[in-house]
Order: sequence, then structure tokens, then C-alpha cells
Amino acid sequence: METFQGKTAVVTGAASGIGHALALRFCEEGMNVVLADIEPAALTAAVSELESSGYSVCGVVTDVAKPEQVSALADAAFDTFGGAHIVCNNAGIFTGGLLWEESLADYQWSLDVNLWGVIHGVRAFVPRMIDQGEPCHVVNTASMAALTTMPFAGVYHMTKHAVLAFSESLYHELALTAPQVGVSVLCPELIKTGIANCDRNRPAQYSGEGDIVESDARTMVHDSIASGVSSGLPPREMAERVLEAVKDNRFYILSNDGWMESARTRIE
Ligand code: NAD
Repeated sequence: METFQGKTAVVTGAASGIGHALALRFCEEGMNVVLADIEPAALTAAVSELESSGYSVCGVVTDVAKPEQVSALADAAFDTFGGAHIVCNNAGIFTGGLLWEESLADYQWSLDVNLWGVIHGVRAFVPRMIDQGEPCHVVNTASMAALTTMPFAGVYHMTKHAVLAFSESLYHELALTAPQVGVSVLCPELIKTGIANCDRNRPAQYSGEGDIVESDARTMVHDSIASGVSSGLPPREMAERVLEAVKDNRFYILSNDGWMESARTRIE
């Protein structure tokens, strides 16, 4: 994709952190931007802030774990702005703890948002992007946790490894069938964002009594994220990388180690 002016971007998890930085950066490029988030108040604040700067935006409250809501998000993008050229499946949460202590509710929540959220985004948008017949790009947010594993974050690693495998498979399939639709996977390192506090928007179905298992491992890992141990690029610089990746059609977008080519064989 060579120019962004007048095109449309959709960003999930856009009320905070990396998603918010992506939305702002797309606006600065002259794009229409659809911001989606599960948190209505934060979403309204993000949309108002961008509108007051004169940008062309709209907000759609969306739970990415729910396919019908992601489908409604795609309808909103096409109805409001007539298309979708960049779709960032970015919403994510972090639970943490020992694998045998973590509650089944946390396993389910992590899989529903981090993995199914990306799957629903791809299934709702990619067929329409193909039909559009114009250069388009899907950006799925994984993590450096998709390329490594560490203790006390096994459920998160599992979901992000799956996002990477899903995205790379999508890349291969689109390269063969609809090469005008590119795919990138964003792999940030640790940065201080709202994710340390993601329990704030835990939906009720994952919040039954006893569902959050407080454990030393969980507390330790949450404290370390909240304290702002940061090795990754700030969100705004990451957003810059995303624009470059879309322009150059790169698959991997790393946080601070430069670019990485896919280790696997590309089918072009
Ligand atoms: P963040 O908490 O600041 O932003 C995430 C946003 O997603 C929030 O606004 C939240 O309300 C929204 N959200 C949560 N559940 C949702 C749902 N079901 N439907 C729609 N929106 C939902 O966190 P962030 O760090 O900006 O995270 C963005 C992405 O980056 C996530 O996928 C995360 O896993 C990934 N990531 C973050 C880091 C980091 O260190 N912060 C590192 C690697 C990857």
C-alpha cells in the first residue's frame, strides 16, 4: 500500500496503549479510523479527543470475543467509510500465574480475547477486503511472547504463539489467492500500558466467585508489568513500524530488534 490518505483503518483495543497509538498515527496519515474497544467510557474519550483534533473517526463498542459484534464492526466500517484498508486485530489481555494454578476462567478469557478475537477479526474482514479488490493489510498483534517462552505467563505465551502461527498461515494463503491483501504480525516487547490492569474490564462471564486465583506467581508478574519494566519501543514508535510494514509488505514487525524475515519458507 503506497498511500494512506483517504483510506480507512480499523483498530481493536483502540482506547488504550498500542491500539490508541495506532489509531492516532493512522489519523495523522489522513485515514478514516474506526476505533473499537470493549470499554465504552475509554472509547468515547479516545474518539472525542481525535474528533476535537479534526480527524475523521468513529467508535464502535466491540467485544472481540463475540463474532457477531466483530461482524457488526465490519458493517460499521463499510457503512460509515465505505471500506476497510488496514485492520489491526490488536485487543488483548494478560492473566498470568502457574499453569496448574491459573483458573479455567482465565484460560478461557485469554483464549477468547487474544486468539478468538484475532480469528473473528480475520473472518469478518478478510473476505470483504478481498472483494474490495484494492491493496489492503491485516496487522495482528502477537507479542515477543510468540517467539519465546518464560515462566508464569504460559497461557499468554500459548495464545500469542497461536496468533503467530495463524497469521503466518494467513500470509501464505493470501499470497497465493489474493496477494493485494498483506499480513503482518506485531511482536512488541514489554512496555507499560493498561494491560497490567486488564482485570478492570474483565467481562462478567469470566468473573465468577473464585475465578481469579490470587497466587504469588500471578501477583509477581502483574506487579512487574505494572511497575513499568519496559524493554520495548514506546507505542508511538511501534505505530511508525506498523506504517512502514504496511508500505513495504513485511510480515514480522518487531519491537526493537529491527526487522526479522520469516524463518519458514515463503510460498509466493
Ligand atoms: P492495553 O490494556 O493498554 O490496551 C488493550 C485494549 O484492549 C484496552 O483498551 C482494552 O479495553 C481492550 N480490550 C480488552 N479486551 C477486549 C475485548 N474483549 N474486546 C475489545 N477490546 C478489548 O494493552 P496494550 O499493551 O496496548 O495491548 C495491546 C496488544 O498488545 C495486546 O494484544 C497485547 O497482548 C499486546 N502486547 C502488549 C505488550 C505490552 O508489554 N504492553 C507486549 C506485547 C504484546
